[in-house]
Amino acid sequence: MAVPPRPGDAPLVALAGNPNTGKTSLFNRLTGSDQKVGNYPGITVERHEGRVSLPRGASARLVDVPGTYSLSARSAEEQIASMAIVGIPPHEEPALVVVVVDATQLLRNLYLALQVIETEVPVLVALNMVDMLAGRGLEIDVPLLERALGVPIVPVSGLSGSGIDALRAAIATELASPRPRSGELHWPTTAALEADMEALVPHLPRAWKAEGRARTRALALWSLLSIDEEDELEGIPHALRDAVTARRHAAAAEGREIEAEVIRARYEWIDRHAGPALREVAAPRSLTDRLDAALLHPVLGFALFLLTMGVVFQALFSWSDPAIGWIEEVFAGLSGLVEGALPAGVLRDFLTEGLIAGVGSVVVFLPQILLLFFFIGVMEDTGYMARVAFLMDRIMKALGLHGRAFVPMLSGFACAVPAILATRTMERRRDRMLTMMVVPLMSCSARLPVYALVIGALFPPSKVLGVLPVQGLLLVGMYVFSTLMALTAAWVLGRTLFRGPRIPLILELPPYRLPHWRSVLKMMTQRAGVFLREAGGVILVCTIGLWLLLAFPKHPALSTDYGAQRTSAEAQLTGEALDARLAELDASERGEVFRKSYGARLGRALEPAIEPLGFDWKIGVGLVGAFAAREVFVSTMGIVYNVGDEADEESVTLRQKIRAESYADGRPVYTPLVGLSLMVFFALACQCMSTLAAVKRETASWRWPLFLFAYMTALAWVASFVVYQGGKLLGFA
Ligand code: GDP
Ligand code: MG
Repeated sequence: MAVPPRPGDAPLVALAGNPNTGKTSLFNRLTGSDQKVGNYPGITVERHEGRVSLPRGASARLVDVPGTYSLSARSAEEQIASMAIVGIPPHEEPALVVVVVDATQLLRNLYLALQVIETEVPVLVALNMVDMLAGRGLEIDVPLLERALGVPIVPVSGLSGSGIDALRAAIATELASPRPRSGELHWPTTAALEADMEALVPHLPRAWKAEGRARTRALALWSLLSIDEEDELEGIPHALRDAVTARRHAAAAEGREIEAEVIRARYEWIDRHAGPALREVAAPRSLTDRLDAALLHPVLGFALFLLTMGVVFQALFSWSDPAIGWIEEVFAGLSGLVEGALPAGVLRDFLTEGLIAGVGSVVVFLPQILLLFFFIGVMEDTGYMARVAFLMDRIMKALGLHGRAFVPMLSGFACAVPAILATRTMERRRDRMLTMMVVPLMSCSARLPVYALVIGALFPPSKVLGVLPVQGLLLVGMYVFSTLMALTAAWVLGRTLFRGPRIPLILELPPYRLPHWRSVLKMMTQRAGVFLREAGGVILVCTIGLWLLLAFPKHPALSTDYGAQRTSAEAQLTGEALDARLAELDASERGEVFRKSYGARLGRALEPAIEPLGFDWKIGVGLVGAFAAREVFVSTMGIVYNVGDEADEESVTLRQKIRAESYADGRPVYTPLVGLSLMVFFALACQCMSTLAAVKRETASWRWPLFLFAYMTALAWVASFVVYQGGKLLGFA
């Protein structure tokens, strides 16, 4: 079915597995230095291929497939992995798939192995990390597991190299005489599922069906579970995608969710048939047991968990601060250099305010992304993450969320971007999607400057009941509000758009171990790299677009006028007085250019839509600017009110101007009620292109970022409307 191997080529063997199971270690051991790096067709995912020599002079080509938890996952790399394993064109169909399984996380890893076996490609399991079993007090009955799965299993260690020769021999044997395909799934199917598969068969490309009934059935099942209606994947015919969509809709109409049905059946099979192969032997498990007695304790465990989360949260919030400040300084310095080197003009402005500021706004996310993935890496690696999922599962279940959704949700308080990248640890698309759709409602740190400005300007520093400070209460209130909204959204979306049965959480609590620092480091740099490459481009383009909106059109008359004023100031004043006057002129020119910009026109055009929320056009301009990133609101308001773009939330003059601003009839523009409405709007609206870029990246589609933007912004509008109009009715003008 797939691209036929070139004549004379050695057979292709694909190395598949969950992330961090040791694929690359085994790949290096098997291929030695004989490797080449390329790209997968049409996409920037690296493809590593090497030649592996086999016994008796034979050889094979080995490809290191990207790590994935399942064949129906969503990101670009996971889709590549799925198609490369199954052999969907333009990927060459592998002659053999070696599934690398982490022996210390056997049951969880077998989920992917089972899926690969179901695709009816010849499979060999490399049971890796067996060097760690004894220390864990674990033993795996390999013959029993082989019988259950029906494929050969070779215990190996990518670390010590033991078992590698046996693995070469097994690869040679399987290539020479592939086992006959059974054509049966391991778990019992339902009549409905059989009908679903049968319905797709006529739509499979003829070439796919040329390999017999078993493979046809397997490809129908793969299509049913893995083809997504939104993705334009090369190699997947439209007719097939439409048929899959139709079948899923039909099932949903009957109240079935195909994916969840199958996931549950697979997990049940693994538990029942592979579970017995995993034995605990009396051995030094006691440390893990003692730790678990504390860490899984209903009270103490929960307290320790909150403490851990507190540290993570604090780190994302404040440890990243110095690094962020440092990055901002570097980019400001770079701007300064360019300003010094180039004459004033559009090119200089583009370089400083467009390009350098744009790149800076991408790079500034790195400290938080690196920190979050440092903690996630350590928590995953030490085995603590499995306990977190276990502890949180009951609470999250009530909300329709996966136990593993907790860490991304919490990280959302710092920044939605790393939090969205962190949804990867969930196997099922529905769980990842649902989490991604609600994480941006958590009150991220970019909202804080806006809250601080509004509260500082419009609410008195007085106390309620003599002790509780009004301003502090409001701030806490905004956080509580956003959390409740996120949880409510999860509850609602989980019962509507993302309806579906829960899958049992597979309760395999691996023993604690020290983290592999190298793999933690690798995870941090990989995630950061992916972010820079893929979300970075979108963010950069948007920043430049926004700059164009706010800096154009140019007004030659205006700059001549300001030039003249500067010259006259220079003639009349000296020293500090001159500097002050020049700064004032700068701010005022900026303000004037800005108020005539396309962005400002957009703000005015927005006015009818935001007037019911209590906002005037100047706030509208701030909202346009805030789309780049929320905190930009503060500096945009600074420009609108001629305070200069250096304004921050502590800026006294900006607060004063905001307080003093009034309509033509003398009514103040900003009342506490307007402030509240504005904060509610910022809490709920999706004003963050970086978040949208991250969702686009992770879902490989524009549909979900658009949905996110639409629903959050609509929610924000309605909530602000209710606050403002309701407040007016109650007499708070
Ligand atoms: P990949 O993500 O699947 O490509 O995994 P890597 O090959 O990058 O390995 C992940 C981590 O596991 C690295 O720190 C390896 O050193 C470690 N590792 C790989 N194989 C073994 C093994 O057999 N035993 C032990 N103890 N560690 C291993
Ligand atoms: Mg790897």
